[in-house]
Amino acid sequence: MDFRLTPEQEALKKEFENFFREEMKRTPPLGAENIYDNDEAWDFHCYIAGKLGEKGWISRPWPKAYGGQEASILEQLLFSQVKAYHRAPGIDIQGVCMLAPTLLASGNEEQKQQHLPPIAHGETMWCQGWSEPNAGSDLASLKTRAVRNGDYYIINGQKTWTSGAHRAQWCFMLARTDPEQPRHRGLSFFLVDMSSPGIELRPVKALNGTHMFNEMYFDDVKVPRENMVGEENRGWYVSLMTMNFERSSIGFMAEAKRNLEELVEYCKETKRNGKPLSEQPLVRSLLSQLTIEVEVGLALSYKVAWLQQKGEAFIMPAAVTACSGKVYGSELGQRLAYAGSRILGLYGQVKAGSKWAPLKGRFESSYQECVSLNMGGGTSEIQRNVIALRGLELPR
Ligand SMILES: Cc1cc2nc3c(=O)[nH]c(=O)nc-3n(C[C@H](O)[C@H](O)[C@H](O)COP(=O)(O)OP(=O)(O)OC[C@H]3O[C@@H](n4cnc5c(N)ncnc54)[C@H](O)[C@@H]3O)c2cc1C
Repeated sequence: MDFRLTPEQEALKKEFENFFREEMKRTPPLGAENIYDNDEAWDFHCYIAGKLGEKGWISRPWPKAYGGQEASILEQLLFSQVKAYHRAPGIDIQGVCMLAPTLLASGNEEQKQQHLPPIAHGETMWCQGWSEPNAGSDLASLKTRAVRNGDYYIINGQKTWTSGAHRAQWCFMLARTDPEQPRHRGLSFFLVDMSSPGIELRPVKALNGTHMFNEMYFDDVKVPRENMVGEENRGWYVSLMTMNFERSSIGFMAEAKRNLEELVEYCKETKRNGKPLSEQPLVRSLLSQLTIEVEVGLALSYKVAWLQQKGEAFIMPAAVTACSGKVYGSELGQRLAYAGSRILGLYGQVKAGSKWAPLKGRFESSYQECVSLNMGGGTSEIQRNVIALRGLELPR
């Protein structure tokens, strides 16, 4: 693997950096990260999404026939790295990173024409209706039912942990269309308009008090037949079609790098017991260890992208390395949050918005948020199962 960027890639990275550095000067006072909870952050997300749409950067990896530029996986990685480093919003993860690749792989022409342009222009927000109260890691056990009735399906059931459903106009979801079939074979993939009668959302507050999750109830929700992606009862296989998208977990690593840099600066500027924190052996040891871990994480992400670019997304090295990236990146985020809170001491517990909150209260918030990092998108245990079974070929 060659770690050097080509001059063209360097230039592209610079272009991304210039854009985000300039635009992030408009960040609202409480930051831009909590787009689901904070209205100012949400408006800022929509503003940046519009800008990215104008530049054609949301759809860069798509085929030219659908308005994309067929950008390489490595170029996507550069974009995601720079965006995450600047803590920029503007990409609807569910719509851009999950649904669009699925539609490109398995959607029919009408579905592509209806949904891809608004995603590319940053105009729509999607949510993901996968998990249910008794179906998370074991997703194929989901119970929400879709029953065919003429030109419609009637959906009944409950989804949970649905991130951003209260902001979304559309939901992609899995529902059971044939309970007689073996578990994976009786599921279908639907696109559901969130304004459909019969959908009820109930907020679920996260540990840090923010509203990101929802419970989503379906009570006789009518979904037109043409909103099914792929064939009936083949939804499980449709849902696996997001593989050709960059899956390097670079966002975790780039965000960790930025947070660590700011923590190091704080330690250089802040004295405790008459000495800068940066001269205290325990602090130095924590910061050096994390610096090594961030660099390892960045190298791991580049390796995943490199393997994917070589066309290995569907064969084991890339898939297993992607799981390693998810485990490593999410757990790195946790180690950093815990170490940062330890270094900041009691002030580290002060919330954003207070003049006493060091580093804008970022560690106060991330200490609580980071608990969920190794659950969302597949838990660390499940990723480790894949690494053990497929990567190390250990017995089941
Ligand atoms: C931040 C965040 C955002 C999310 N957003 C969404 C969303 O938008 N839409 C959506 O549908 N869902 C979402 N989820 C839900 C997420 O997909 C599930 O939490 C996840 O799949 C785990 O399922 P579960 O919570 O039911 O835990 P369970 O599957 O019940 O697991 C409980 C524990 O048992 C372990 N475990 C389970 N099976 C095994 C096994 N075979 N081997 C070893 N250990 C095992 C798990 O690792 C975990 O530690 C989100 C979750 C989080 C934390």
